[in-house]
Amino acid sequence: MRVGIGHDTHRLVEGRPLILAGVTIPHPRGLMGHSDADVVMHAVADALLGAAALGDIGEHFPDTDPRWKGIAGRDLLAQVYEMVRSRGWVAVNIDVTIHAQSPKLSPYKQTMAAHLAETLALNLSDVNVKAKTGEGVGPVGLGEIIGCDAAALIRANQFD
Ligand code: MG
Repeated sequence: MRVGIGHDTHRLVEGRPLILAGVTIPHPRGLMGHSDADVVMHAVADALLGAAALGDIGEHFPDTDPRWKGIAGRDLLAQVYEMVRSRGWVAVNIDVTIHAQSPKLSPYKQTMAAHLAETLALNLSDVNVKAKTGEGVGPVGLGEIIGCDAAALIRANQFD
């Protein structure tokens, strides 16, 4: 078994949709990025790459490459997981903490977990999504950014 951690942060700006773990959340602002800026999918992808010692998403999906412009976080995570699986690993469980002052994420946590579980072929009981505010201070608390931390456990797939 191996463990990996991932982190991602994107700036909140006007004129962009807010997409977290593949859920489009009604909000006056969204996350800026070359892709869909889905911090949750990106943090989980990095956690999986970390566990498998395969680098980070910046190496595999450089934002200078037009191929990845607007790529959905879910597709990116699916591609990363394909890479991880091809090295003989499967995911065991995923834990995520989203850092956002607003909007309130509790109504969306189950759907976010379902999207992660679906993308990684896990049971819903193997995926956990938590949300924290920034207590009104710092870049999270002032609503300048949304961040995400993720941990992933993988195990060798003895059936491959
Ligand atoms: Mg990102």
